[in-house]
Amino acid sequence: MSDRVQEILARSAREFYGNPSSAHADGARARAALETARAQIADFLQVATSQIVFTSGATEANNLVLHGVAEHFSTKAKRSGVHFVTTRAEHPSVLAPIAHLEAQGFLVTQIGVNENGCIDFAEFEAALRPETKLVTLLWANNETGVVQDLPKIAALVRARGILLHVDAVQAAGKFDLKLEQWPWDFLSFSGHKLGAPTGIGCLVIRAGVELLPQLRGGTQERRRRAGTENLLGAIGFGAACERLRQEQEVETRIWYALRESLWQSIHTQICDVRRNGLSHETLSNTLSVTFLGVDGSVLLEALDLEGVSASSGSACSSGSSEPSHVLRAMGRSVEEARATLRFSLGPGVDVKQIAQVGEILPKLVMRIRNSMLCHQVVLPVVSHG
Ligand code: PLP
Repeated sequence: MSDRVQEILARSAREFYGNPSSAHADGARARAALETARAQIADFLQVATSQIVFTSGATEANNLVLHGVAEHFSTKAKRSGVHFVTTRAEHPSVLAPIAHLEAQGFLVTQIGVNENGCIDFAEFEAALRPETKLVTLLWANNETGVVQDLPKIAALVRARGILLHVDAVQAAGKFDLKLEQWPWDFLSFSGHKLGAPTGIGCLVIRAGVELLPQLRGGTQERRRRAGTENLLGAIGFGAACERLRQEQEVETRIWYALRESLWQSIHTQICDVRRNGLSHETLSNTLSVTFLGVDGSVLLEALDLEGVSASSGSACSSGSSEPSHVLRAMGRSVEEARATLRFSLGPGVDVKQIAQVGEILPKLVMRIRNSMLCHQVVLPVVSHG
């Protein structure tokens, strides 16, 4: 979080303690602050303020779309005629509700991705049917950073009168989304990916598209999401968008250069490494690398001890021993998936830090590979002994 966003949050915590829905003056001030934040976000995304529904984050936004669309089809007979299309490499906050809908009787097609993580257009088009109601896709993958050609996909979807939901969480803040130039229906965003506090996000809904609320019991957010808004979160989200409007372009150029230099130092110093996703098709700040023969969770811990915060799968599923479903969808083996780490660059990462990581990594990888080799020799003797 930038100093400026922190300052605004600290000041706002003192200034705004009214409920934005209250009629008194404190409430009106809070309402005005909420609407200023909404306008800052709308300005950054180039959408209308009326299209923005604040949520607790993108998980809620994704669930709101999927369940909000599905709820129109209440009987089992109706559900069996409604089809959703997605991929096998989506974020869990889409995959889990999709699985839930399938269990309720909806039809679901999950297409694959190629070895570089990209959607195959022929397979995608073949999956669209007359009964397809909604396509839900990640714009940029959270594990690999692979960016799909969403505007091109959107044209295929709109031509068939199908609704399109895009999880734009990772794409936002990394490149100009040009949302005014292509047809989308729903977009999910998460504040903390953009420098806002955690616990705030939004769903952007194209004007005129119908969606049933999933939280009921209040008239907030134009009756699309009941409950008192997270005012400080929204203010932080707005302030973060203001900063990005000015700094995104320069920041992402710096990340790209640093990311490429990290990859350069990894693959020139460490043998048997593989980059996941092509450089020009991935987000500027994301580097996913497979260190063959290395247990990724051990390398992650070793890096953590050195003060480097990297990641294996998505944060939501870290700690689980399941190999990444994203890498598996890209055709990687279980061993390769387990040997993969993701490095994400954010504001404040500099040349010195990248050089340090480039220096530490070869030593750690060698140490882990050596110890794994020793175990391979010793273990059978011990276990059979
Ligand atoms: N979608 C993507 C692509 C993400 O990366 C994340 C979070 O990491 C989410 C959805 C969930 O967002 P939130 O943590 O705001 O619920």
